[in-house]
Amino acid sequence: MHPGSLVAFRTPDPGRVGLGSCCVHRRSREPRLTKFPREFVRDVVDRTSIVSLVSQHVKLKRRGSAWLGLCPFHNEKTPSFHVNEDRKNYHCFGCNESGDAIDWLKEVEGLSFLDAVKELADRAGVPLPKQDLSPQELEKSRRREALLRANEVACAWFQEMLEHPTEGEFARDYLKDRGYTLEFARQWRVGYAPESWDGLRDALARARLDDRIGVEASLLKRSDRGKRPYAFFRNRLMFPILGSSKKVIAFGGRTLGDDKAKYINSTGTPVYDKSGALYGLQQGRKAIHKEDRVLVVEGYFDVMALARSGLGFAVAPCGTALTDRQLAGIRRHTRNVTLLFDADQAGRRAALRALELCLEQGLWPMRLEVPNGKDPDEFVKDEGPEAMRALLDESRPLLDFYLDVLAADVRSGASQADKALEDVAPLIARLGAKNARQSHYVHAVHAALAIEHRYITDAVQRAARRIASQPKRTEVVLPARRAKAAEQTPPPRRRSSAPRGPAGPPGRFGPEDDFVPPDEAFMPPEDFLPEDLRGPASSAPPPQGPRPVPAPPEPKPTPPQLQLLRLLVQDLPNVAGAVQDYGVTAWIPQPTILKLVDRFLEAHRDGREPTATDLLEEVGSGPIRSTLGQVLASKDAWYDDDILETATQECLLRLRREYVAARYVQIKRDLDALQRSGNGSGLELLELGQESIQLQKEREALDQHLSRN
Ligand SMILES: [Zn+2]
Repeated sequence: MHPGSLVAFRTPDPGRVGLGSCCVHRRSREPRLTKFPREFVRDVVDRTSIVSLVSQHVKLKRRGSAWLGLCPFHNEKTPSFHVNEDRKNYHCFGCNESGDAIDWLKEVEGLSFLDAVKELADRAGVPLPKQDLSPQELEKSRRREALLRANEVACAWFQEMLEHPTEGEFARDYLKDRGYTLEFARQWRVGYAPESWDGLRDALARARLDDRIGVEASLLKRSDRGKRPYAFFRNRLMFPILGSSKKVIAFGGRTLGDDKAKYINSTGTPVYDKSGALYGLQQGRKAIHKEDRVLVVEGYFDVMALARSGLGFAVAPCGTALTDRQLAGIRRHTRNVTLLFDADQAGRRAALRALELCLEQGLWPMRLEVPNGKDPDEFVKDEGPEAMRALLDESRPLLDFYLDVLAADVRSGASQADKALEDVAPLIARLGAKNARQSHYVHAVHAALAIEHRYITDAVQRAARRIASQPKRTEVVLPARRAKAAEQTPPPRRRSSAPRGPAGPPGRFGPEDDFVPPDEAFMPPEDFLPEDLRGPASSAPPPQGPRPVPAPPEPKPTPPQLQLLRLLVQDLPNVAGAVQDYGVTAWIPQPTILKLVDRFLEAHRDGREPTATDLLEEVGSGPIRSTLGQVLASKDAWYDDDILETATQECLLRLRREYVAARYVQIKRDLDALQRSGNGSGLELLELGQESIQLQKEREALDQHLSRN
């Protein structure tokens, strides 16, 4: 069973294309209207390496021609998330999420379509064409840019101040005392906010950024007395917090004076989501991927001290308690989390709070305590990086530590055993039913609390039922997605038992991957009608009464239609030629499939291949979206060259057969209606009768032909 089966469909997204059809299960979409020319958008997406874009959030491994990783949109243990550089798209075979670089930025960073295109253009170094935005769009987009620019200006200015001969002297000495070279500080863009109340404001003004932006970026503060705003960070060492595009989105500042607040941080802004950010994650990405683990520490200096010692996989929550959002951010890179909190009571409490959050997120947390109450910064300085590595290797599961705490409480009489059981049961339930780890911990609870196994199992089962009845948090992992979660209507994902497609499956992906292989995932759901009963969309029952009835949903794509898409992807010149020669488009009733085929033909006429962006634009959020994603995600050829032509022929025959069958059903229905009403003229009846006979003959011939192959 794949964990993705519980995951909701993609939510309707107002930025995307609308289709002619609408359906009770999904809202129709606004057109993905761009004020940018289509050519421009295509060019920008083409120039983007989707693999490196996605890699900023998800650890990807090359597997044959595809890049594979753990899906950021649903909780899974084996990778089913594919990224295809040639087709410029991503697709998850677990939860069916798919899209191109623009969708990625929209989903993961919550950008609007326009901002996503701008971001990609910026990365690719493509100048933006002149555009015609609404005043609101323009304003929003300008504001975001201005905030990012203000942060960049501030960061550069703080760095400049750190290197200023007199202003920065004390801060430089402080860093030097703690063992940091100026070169390291530059690399991490550490800066210094001087005591000055106006300096930063002036620097922003020189960059034509007014007070309003400075205040909104949390760099300036309005004074109570209505005077001009003043610098929010003063006499502080400044740590820039980077967003996923490595732009500065916020700051943390450590006082160098006797300010009571040792650390202060930017407040939330439109470009900075406090509860999701982690300091060091962007700088540490490579090391985290290489080591396949992350070390969560408490402070900015801890992160830097570890990085300086070659342990570059540490991150710190930015002045907040560890949140599920931050853990979800970590999960995109690794499942192995070691929590290093202070050994004091507060640190222990924080670690225990993190335990449940980690288990909820499918992470397995280890706990590391630095001996003698030192913080990691001190420890590495005194004992060296190898000692730190040794500590890391000795770290124990956080759950073991929790059991120790519970057992001690019970022994000392501070807590009752059954109360302790109630506390720990939900955690054991989170380990998943009846696996080795869970049974290990049932025994461990038995040993720690001296409670009989059956009581433990009962409590765990009760907890599991409670968890199952709660809304699942793990599905909502990304900020952009979270906002939309309320409107989700999750239909269960259906898996087909239908036979496999006519040709062999695409390349396998290694034994450890249990995701649905593309060919199987391709098959329509079980409720798919037998071909003979399928009619065009117009055969749905007519609306009754005066109340308007929603238009019938577009029929699902049929196997031959999907086969056609695959063939078009694999061999556009020949298949497009055949489709044109035989007028195949007339046989396809589904508007979406038709539009897609048209896109292929159009691209073929222009002598190119359609991009994923072109195609996804046509399909909106309907079920065909995920199917198309699968087609595009797999670069492996579905058909060997020597059977390609036969496969094409057979596919066209099947499409024709579908058309004939549907048309036959339609004519029979018309005939019946005419006969019942007595309105039809003899000639009409005769013509329909003849056509139905023709169709029946053709169908028999097609059946014979197809059964021979
Ligand atoms: Zn997924």
